[in-house]
Amino acid sequence: MAPFFRWPPPAGKSLRYLVSSWSLLGARVYVLAVALLSWFYFAPALERCAEFSADWIAQIWLRNFVTMLLVAGSLHLYFYTFNKQRDVEKYDPRDLSRRSKLFHFDNQVWDNMFWTLVSAVAVWSFYESLMMWAYANGLAPTMTFSDNPAWFVLLLFLIPFWTGFHFYWQHRMFHLPALYKLAHNWHHKNTNVGPWSGAAMHPVEHAVWFSAVFVLLLLPSHPLHALFIMQLQAITAVTSHCGYENLLLGKKLKFRLGDFFHQLHHRFYDCNYGTFETPWDQWFDTYHDGSPQGDAWMKQRRRQLTQTKSIG
Ligand SMILES: [Zn+2]
Ligand SMILES: [Zn+2]
Repeated sequence: MAPFFRWPPPAGKSLRYLVSSWSLLGARVYVLAVALLSWFYFAPALERCAEFSADWIAQIWLRNFVTMLLVAGSLHLYFYTFNKQRDVEKYDPRDLSRRSKLFHFDNQVWDNMFWTLVSAVAVWSFYESLMMWAYANGLAPTMTFSDNPAWFVLLLFLIPFWTGFHFYWQHRMFHLPALYKLAHNWHHKNTNVGPWSGAAMHPVEHAVWFSAVFVLLLLPSHPLHALFIMQLQAITAVTSHCGYENLLLGKKLKFRLGDFFHQLHHRFYDCNYGTFETPWDQWFDTYHDGSPQGDAWMKQRRRQLTQTKSIG
């Protein structure tokens, strides 16, 4: 777990963690690079976005489609099609399902690709278009880097905390029985995950998950912040579900991809609803730390819940 929410707050450790979370050997800094590239080279000029029009919306959709295809596609080819890293740093030795009636097209990867490229990219692009329209029409409080450089940069650092906070609460909501049955069970068909599992969800869940960006209707921000929030959600969902802890670069270097915390959520379903940077699971007693003790505690909690239900 990130050290921010321990008491008393460990200032040195928190600062070291914050720096390492933006390391060149992790995804976050590259997502920011993708957001910058998108803004400077692959985004419609803001003046064009004052009125809805198919051409600039299609431009946003195409860029998001290609981004998703490149990130998830290349990780899938590397780890699964060409099996370049075999089982080294892999969380779960099982293969992804090829013939299973559980999945559309009877194939886990094709099912995940379909809901990612069709639904996730559409909702992501629709919300991004709404935000661009809102910025162009002065409906979102807009600022530039030169207006307030300190807030511009601070907001970039705050965004991962906001997406983590938003993720926990909307995810917890989707574990309520009715919403789980309606939507979230689609994502949980992936008990073992691969890159295409991350953004593979029911369209209703995409609509809620990507809504994190709308916080920028309340805060002074730049379109770059909107791009960064949604790309952070989309791209790190892919990397964190890739099934491998690290990508090995030569003999010594490791590029951090996986998320053991969320991997355990897929394996056991009723623990680790949030992220390892937010404290909710520890505070609400749904934390599994991956150890045998964590496993025993989770089983005990399940027994208590069953007893409470049968008494009730
Ligand atoms: Zn879940
Ligand atoms: Zn997941």
